[in-house]
Amino acid sequence: MRTLLIEPISLLVTMDAEGRELRDAAVLIRDGVIEAVGPCGTLGTASEVVDASRRLVMPGMVNTHHHLFQSLTRATPGAQDVKLFDWLIVHYPIWRHITPTMITISARLALAELLLSGATTVADHLYLYPNGARIDDEIQAAQELGVRFCPTRGSMSVGESRGGLPPDGVVEDEDTILRETRRAIESWHDPQPYSMCQVAVAPCAPFNVSQELMRESAQLARSYGVRLHTHVAETLDEEHYTLERVGLKPVAYMASLEWMGPDVWWTHAVKLDADEIALMAETQTGVAHCPASNMRLGSGIAPVRAYLDADVPVGLSVDGSASNDGGHMLAEARLAMLLQRVDRGAAALTAREALRMATVGGARVLGRSDIGQVTPGMAADLIAYDLDRHELAGAQADPLAALLFCAPTSIDWSLINGRFVVRDGALVGHDLQRIVAEHNQASARLRTLA
Ligand SMILES: [Zn+2]
Repeated sequence: MRTLLIEPISLLVTMDAEGRELRDAAVLIRDGVIEAVGPCGTLGTASEVVDASRRLVMPGMVNTHHHLFQSLTRATPGAQDVKLFDWLIVHYPIWRHITPTMITISARLALAELLLSGATTVADHLYLYPNGARIDDEIQAAQELGVRFCPTRGSMSVGESRGGLPPDGVVEDEDTILRETRRAIESWHDPQPYSMCQVAVAPCAPFNVSQELMRESAQLARSYGVRLHTHVAETLDEEHYTLERVGLKPVAYMASLEWMGPDVWWTHAVKLDADEIALMAETQTGVAHCPASNMRLGSGIAPVRAYLDADVPVGLSVDGSASNDGGHMLAEARLAMLLQRVDRGAAALTAREALRMATVGGARVLGRSDIGQVTPGMAADLIAYDLDRHELAGAQADPLAALLFCAPTSIDWSLINGRFVVRDGALVGHDLQRIVAEHNQASARLRTLA
């Protein structure tokens, strides 16, 4: 039996239902699960004690949408100043040369970047499988780094010759997609509490997947009891596409395909009107909010304030990594807070609301009741920030809000299932410089192939 006591903690942010923030607190962890939370000196002792004085400790953050492989093509010339459809048209011919090894290498880099920024759970949307690539290639990287992972088996089936956006060379046939999705679930999905890997089913978007595949994917996911994920209502181009082809706006289209419900989360959800937001709330369809990507591509401002007021589940996502082009959870939460203010004034979203979205909100979107809070019974996924960092100097009156009001900082340490994955600001057991060098080589090679 392994026990870990973290005390004293200068400031413990629980993200529990009451939003408790405790000064001079302690957390006791047993076998990777939080056993007790209380004042310093009241929880007994443990086999290992970690001093967290001058630290802010909070739940590890949950990234609800990503494309890890895109870290190979950040800041691509020709795709820096264009909207989504044109951005995709520049990238597809490059991405078709990605190899299985490149999938692993890019996932390793992008996951390391997220971990160092405070993520402990990551959902990834891998929708391209060229040259024999499989979802297993990114799961391997997540296992190596020890991150809690939600790989979503993406797909594209409608290429240019059938009226879709991607070239035919990057789409798969639908039998292969369904067979591989089944295999991914049967090989990797663990539905148990504290699971390190939960697979979801994720056809890419309304403009590159057929109606039949959307329907069959929903049936398949529900037959296994796994979640459904896709891109919806990101841009006006998408709205024109679905209106032209099926006579419906994206939300109505997805509703007609049974793609709404408490087991579904959409990413972006930018272009929704009040009736559509009400439908999201009624069906409890979740949202992965990607402020940096929406700003970078000029897609618009998602109605996050309205979602929260209507009790639509909302999590935070870095999207990317070629439309962000970073993977920093605090930077993303900061943008979420600021972007709502651009739209609706200075009181539109508080720092605490944005950080709840990044933690307990993300857990809800992924259907996880075992992460996102520091309360007894939860997985011991915790992160700590050093309150003496230069970025936080002068902000001691409210260090939690300072995490978003000040420039984004990196974590001091993080625990996943009670084990350190980051300590003293560095990955445990991994050489970051080597991961970066390997990644840069793969990225350069990809560009020579394209
Ligand atoms: Zn995306």
